[in-house]
Amino acid sequence: MINYVIMFGRRGILSIISDDNDFINVKQEKKNPVVKTDANDSDRAFENSIRPKDFGSYIGQTNLLKHLKITIEASKKREKALDHILFYGPPGLGKTTLAGVIGNEMGVPVKITSAPALERPRDIIGILMSLEENQILFIDEIHRLNKVAEEILYPAMEDFYLDMTTGKAQTVKTLRIPLPKFTLIGATTKAGELSGPLRDRFGIVHRLEFYTPVELAQVIKRTAKILDIEIDEKSAYAIARRSRGTPRIANRLIKRVSDYAIVKNDGKITEDIANKSLDILEIDEYGLDNTDRNLLKLIIEKYDGGPVGIETISAAIGEDSRTLEDVCEPYLLQCGLLQRTPRGRKVTPETYRHLGYKISNSNQQSLF
Ligand code: ADP
Repeated sequence: MINYVIMFGRRGILSIISDDNDFINVKQEKKNPVVKTDANDSDRAFENSIRPKDFGSYIGQTNLLKHLKITIEASKKREKALDHILFYGPPGLGKTTLAGVIGNEMGVPVKITSAPALERPRDIIGILMSLEENQILFIDEIHRLNKVAEEILYPAMEDFYLDMTTGKAQTVKTLRIPLPKFTLIGATTKAGELSGPLRDRFGIVHRLEFYTPVELAQVIKRTAKILDIEIDEKSAYAIARRSRGTPRIANRLIKRVSDYAIVKNDGKITEDIANKSLDILEIDEYGLDNTDRNLLKLIIEKYDGGPVGIETISAAIGEDSRTLEDVCEPYLLQCGLLQRTPRGRKVTPETYRHLGYKISNSNQQSLF
């Protein structure tokens, strides 16, 4: 356990210094701006400008919203902080957005951070001490929290206090510092990598599903309206079909299509313009891009349809294995172009058809 010197002022704790001289200025932490570490600044600004703020504008995930509405209403009636919530699912499906919506519906502020930003004990302690009553703390990529941060989080989540020791040798004392009742919303692309004890401390666990083309067309029309882009139903649907079931991708594509329409068609988006610009971006009718296709082609051309391990694929196509697992694979699995087996990844007959390969006699048996 890490040892701390805690300085008290008239209004509570002023600062905390750990053995390794890590200094936490509690007052300063309270003023800390919200942090989110995964996207660059302009991406983040764009995403924030189009994020739905309430249940009314959050599209899709119908079952999940139904459950959440009941939970929120119950917690309001009880006048208690919401239970801790874990959202899991591939990136871009709306986990961060949902945390903001919940905050808004509960009428409480949301503090956003991500596990890689909570590397040192001071980071997690600082952020916990800066919370206010009923506030929501959103931790993205929560499966990447280190052991020390997790240990600090357990009593904070369970009983709302921090356990700290001060003093040396015989004079060592354990101090329990009370925290305000808060709600932790964790988001992860890999629920399986969360440690058991951490996972067990979430009262509510929900998986976010890929969106249907109809839902994504709604997302696209909503975003187009905010960005003042004119788009009809058919064009929105054409983009939606190639958005890999993911609102973040749909929102990116509408901007690219709009750019193309400005250059080629006086800004008017038609179905034909939408399809042409997506063809130029090399996004096929399944929504696959070059990385997806390279992955699938490699398995077909070099490994006769598979199975082959993810590390081998990663080395061969020069793409980080974590990106392949988190970003590419979930969608390929979902649309039946890839399968996970104990011996590695393999493709399906549909992959051969989609990419225009003939199924040879040798792999006929293993594929069916
Ligand atoms: P995640 O946290 O799961 O990676 P985000 O919440 O950051 O995903 O969402 C990515 C983008 O997609 C945001 O810009 C948001 O506006 C949009 N988005 C996500 N979910 C929805 C939804 N249900 N309705 C409308 N837009 C959405």
